[in-house]
Amino acid sequence: MPKLQGATLWKGRSRLNGAPIKVVVTGLSRPSENPKTGPQLQVWILPRGLPVTAVRTGTDASVCGECPHRPTKGGSCYVSTHRAPQTIARAYGRGRYPVVRPREARRLLAGRSVRLGAWGDPAAVPARVWRSLLGTAKSHTGYSHSWKGRPDLRGLVMASVDSPEERDRARAAGFRTFRVSLDGAPGPGEIVCPASAEAGFRTDCNRCGLCDGSRGPNDRRASIVIKAHGSASKVGALARWAISV
Ligand code: SF4
Repeated sequence: MPKLQGATLWKGRSRLNGAPIKVVVTGLSRPSENPKTGPQLQVWILPRGLPVTAVRTGTDASVCGECPHRPTKGGSCYVSTHRAPQTIARAYGRGRYPVVRPREARRLLAGRSVRLGAWGDPAAVPARVWRSLLGTAKSHTGYSHSWKGRPDLRGLVMASVDSPEERDRARAAGFRTFRVSLDGAPGPGEIVCPASAEAGFRTDCNRCGLCDGSRGPNDRRASIVIKAHGSASKVGALARWAISV
């Protein structure tokens, strides 16, 4: 098979609402230029149809669940769906990302660091699928706003939390956490993301790999906090959301 830039790793029903979704990986032959992630493979969890339409109509629930940052819920999500997600969904529609069998998928991910959910929540995909796909990967990172009632995700992803209180609830449920805050100040058991501007861009996710979930009750690694970033309008939306709850 010629060298692929991307491939479709899985198609199935969303664990969040049962709608059809697919998992596409990119960066196989040309590394991502995202300075925060470094050359991680980027995994996109895509709904039926185009992302821009999905976030406008709310059908993004199949890949984003009840995340409070969805545009139809107030809109502070940092992902610009009209950019990469839209481009990738269009390319998928043109057949640019062939569906590969599980064995080939594991070969494509072998030895690489993988970012789960460049857009979309990894909770939309069965945990057993992730475990199978990641069996050959070097490392991975992932974040989920749909961690409540999902202990199967503890060893795979960080619980995305929006307040110290939610952080404490997620930790009590056995998760490590990733918290976006307006001031970026770490609380108990948290460190500032070393790839952040406030930490001086000391590394990237490809090298750091701290955000890979919990290895169990004896995992003493810190949880992560990062200052809200992105466009002024998105930071403003986060601020409005934070004071409205
Ligand atoms: S803590 Fe490490 S893995 Fe997590 S977001 Fe920051 S750089 Fe990436």
